[in-house]
Amino acid sequence: MRGHAEIAGAGFAGLTVATALARLGWSVRVHERAAEPRADGAGIFLWENGLRVLAELGLERGVLARGFSAAAWEDRDERGAQIGRRPFPLPGGLRMVTMIRQDLHAPLLEAARDAGVAVETGSRVVGAEPEGALLTDDGRRWPADVAIGADGIGSRVRESLGLLREREQFDAITIIRFTVPLSRAPGASGRWRNYVDHWHLGARRRVLYVPCNADDLYLMLAAGADDTPAVGHPLDAGVWCDTFPLLAPVLAELPAAPHTDRYDTVRVHGWSRGRSAIVGDAAHAMPPTIGQGAGTAMTNALALAGALDRAPDRAGIAAALAAWEQAERGETDATQAASVARLATLFPQPGERRDSWGSQPLRAASR
Ligand SMILES: Cc1cc2nc3c(=O)[nH]c(=O)nc-3n(C[C@H](O)[C@H](O)[C@H](O)COP(=O)(O)OP(=O)(O)OC[C@H]3O[C@@H](n4cnc5c(N)ncnc54)[C@H](O)[C@@H]3O)c2cc1C
Repeated sequence: MRGHAEIAGAGFAGLTVATALARLGWSVRVHERAAEPRADGAGIFLWENGLRVLAELGLERGVLARGFSAAAWEDRDERGAQIGRRPFPLPGGLRMVTMIRQDLHAPLLEAARDAGVAVETGSRVVGAEPEGALLTDDGRRWPADVAIGADGIGSRVRESLGLLREREQFDAITIIRFTVPLSRAPGASGRWRNYVDHWHLGARRRVLYVPCNADDLYLMLAAGADDTPAVGHPLDAGVWCDTFPLLAPVLAELPAAPHTDRYDTVRVHGWSRGRSAIVGDAAHAMPPTIGQGAGTAMTNALALAGALDRAPDRAGIAAALAAWEQAERGETDATQAASVARLATLFPQPGERRDSWGSQPLRAASR
């Protein structure tokens, strides 16, 4: 059918389903609370499943041109000794690439606008109705054939539909994300062009080193939330340089107040109620331990557009949403469970060889 969709959130999930629906002939409006839609949070890993969605939208080449593919993922201890290695591409030709988040978000936003999606900025959604309508904080009601909450981990759409089962916060570790110029890297080849996870097992501190393009290096620092010298404000570069002397050139200047995160998981009773649905982090936020949050969000968002397009008419939308969940939920739950399970073994034991992901990420990536 060709209908009208109201969508909350211009993130990776919201823009994917919006663009796909608009290209299928739907009229689509996206409500974004920010004054200008953009992606926060430095860099991002995108696996094969996310790349396939970009290919489907005709955006893969453009995004890859601004991204980076390393020859290998390495794990190293604080002295630089290798404790694990995975060459790319992975078995089955599976790719994993990196980019600055904004370099993924900007093409998605442009594609949505080009497809005719109306993006209402500064529009804060406070809820949805099962009859397929969004509600905004200015008191307006936005009726549609389908209403979609792609409003992220704190989804108001999910709350208003009573879909939340559990939100679990893993408080033990604080994550700090930012970018620095890649030119600060001590070398220009070899390991300095790989993704390298550095572990100080005694101090339980970690630096994930991620080239994102020719200019930008994404760094993710992680340590115990109670490790105040490492994760307290302002961030103390000296502590991190002492912990990882080989990385001192890239750690010498740290942003005083960078983006910090905890690992969060959202579990829900279902992905829809009537003609309103949730997608992306709103439905299945997962810890970023296997880098599948955005890829899974985009995969499910594209599938949602297809399912809606197959609905015979407005009366068939609730059934189409149920069929979509039936088709996608099993793999999504398995991916989320693998991300959560990874938390238990996040820091390798001294002397342990590190298998960076296990097999589940490969299964998730090949969806
Ligand atoms: C530390 C960390 C590292 C990560 N690394 C990776 C990685 O490497 N690879 C990966 O695939 N995933 C990663 N993720 C997960 C990934 O960021 C998310 O899964 C992804 O952003 C989800 O996309 P989304 O569109 O569902 O939600 P979001 O990206 O959160 O987008 C939601 C949008 O909705 C808007 N919004 C929110 N509330 C409202 C409202 N009430 N009204 C209107 N608009 C609203 C927001 O402003 C935003 O634009 C990581 C997450 C964390 C925390």
